[in-house]
Amino acid sequence: MHCPFCGADDTKVIDSRLVAEGDSVRRRRECQTCGERFTTFENAELVMPRLVKRDGTREPFDEEKLRRGLQRALEKRPVSVEEIESSLNRIMHRLRSTGERELPSLMVGEEVMNELREMDGVAYVRFASVYRDFQDVSEFQKEIQNLTRTDESS
Ligand SMILES: [Zn+2]
Repeated sequence: MHCPFCGADDTKVIDSRLVAEGDSVRRRRECQTCGERFTTFENAELVMPRLVKRDGTREPFDEEKLRRGLQRALEKRPVSVEEIESSLNRIMHRLRSTGERELPSLMVGEEVMNELREMDGVAYVRFASVYRDFQDVSEFQKEIQNLTRTDESS
């Protein structure tokens, strides 16, 4: 690991810890030549499963697309960027831990709904109404009733 300050390649790890639910390692390093300290993040190279769409075509998992989807649903809602990021990490973690090389893209949508349901009821309904493409109003109302019941019981 080269020092970003002086370019020397003699750097020493002075602290190391797991972050993002154990998916990456944060390391504090110290340059043995100039004495500057810096931080590196190392991510295990974990391959996300490919997604199989309804029409049978495959597409690579797109983290940025998933992030945008969450952000769109949570627009103007009282949910922090950190919460969105950890939610994104949880979803990706669960998709990876299936151990499958291919997953139905539908599963990603279901995971997003589970996360939104926990985080913000309004965002959940907002996403669900688009995602599930509710056939009629009564179906939509049923979903809201379910949601309200969950809120009351918690
Ligand atoms: Zn240096």
